[in-house]
Amino acid sequence: MPTPEIVTAHEADVGGITVRRLLPRAVRRTVGAWCFVDHAGPLDVGDGTMQVGPHPHTGLHTVTWMLDGELVHRDSLGSEQALRPGQVNLMTAGQGVVHAEQVPEGATGRQQLLQLWVAQPEATRHGPAAFEHHAEPPVLETASATATLLVGQLGEAVSTARSDWPIVGADLVVRAPTSLPVERSFEHAVIPLGTPVRVDGTVVEPGTLGYLPPGGGELDLAPVEGVGEARLVLLGGEPFPDRLAMFWNFVGRTRDELEEAAADWASGDPRFGEVGGGLPRTPVPSMAPRSR
Ligand code: MN
Repeated sequence: MPTPEIVTAHEADVGGITVRRLLPRAVRRTVGAWCFVDHAGPLDVGDGTMQVGPHPHTGLHTVTWMLDGELVHRDSLGSEQALRPGQVNLMTAGQGVVHAEQVPEGATGRQQLLQLWVAQPEATRHGPAAFEHHAEPPVLETASATATLLVGQLGEAVSTARSDWPIVGADLVVRAPTSLPVERSFEHAVIPLGTPVRVDGTVVEPGTLGYLPPGGGELDLAPVEGVGEARLVLLGGEPFPDRLAMFWNFVGRTRDELEEAAADWASGDPRFGEVGGGLPRTPVPSMAPRSR
C-alpha cells in the first residue's frame, strides 16, 4: 500500500462542545460514501453535556458510535433508543427525517462519540426515512487485533447494518502488528482515537486522518512503540461517483435542493415531522448554502 495521505482535523463547535471534524475537508471531501466525520470528546459531563435539539437531515445515513457515555436518540419515526458504547445507531434520512440526541438526566462521567454520515446514492436518497439500532455488532477477533463492525464486512465479520453503497466502518484495537484483508476497490481512512497508529510504516496521529487510495488488498496496522495498543476507526468504500452539495445537515447534489430543504424546515413543512423529548427545534443557520 502507498504512504497514507494525512488530512488534519478542523476544530468546530457543536452545541457548545468542541469537536474534531475530519470530513469533509478541503483536500478530502469523501472516503467511499462517508462524507462527514466528527469526533467529540472525551469530555466530562460536568464540563457541558451533549444536548442536540431536533434538527433535520436529508440524503444521508447517520452512523453514531459511542466511545464513552450514553446518548438517547429520538426521531420523527417515533424511535426512542438509548445508545451505549459498543452499539450502533443508524438512521436513514432519505427525503427527510428529524432527530434529537441528548445525554440522559443524571448521567455522570466521560462522554466521547463519533458522528458519521454516509451519503445516500441517487437510487435511495429520495426514499423513506428509517432507523436501526444494533446492540451487538459483529466482532472480528485475531491474535493481534479486535475489530467491531459498524457497517460492512471485514474478514468473516459481516454487519447487518444497512448500507446503500459498498462501504466498511470498523472500530479497531490493534495490540501488535496486524495485516487486515480489505477490498481492493475501496479507498480507506484510518482515524486514530487518542493514540497514534502506524499505517504501513507511517505514523498517523490523533486529530488527523490517514487516507489510502484504492488498490491494496491488505492494510498493515501497528501500535507505535511504547503505546501498548492503538485504538482507531477504519472507514472505507468504493469511491463515490456523485459530486455532493452539503449545507448544514443536508446532503444533496445541487444548491437548489439544499435551499429547498432549509426552507421546508424553516416553514415547518410536514416533510420532516416532529420529535418528542422537550428540546427546542434547531433553527437553520443564516449562512447561505454554498455549493461544494
Ligand atoms: Mn443529526
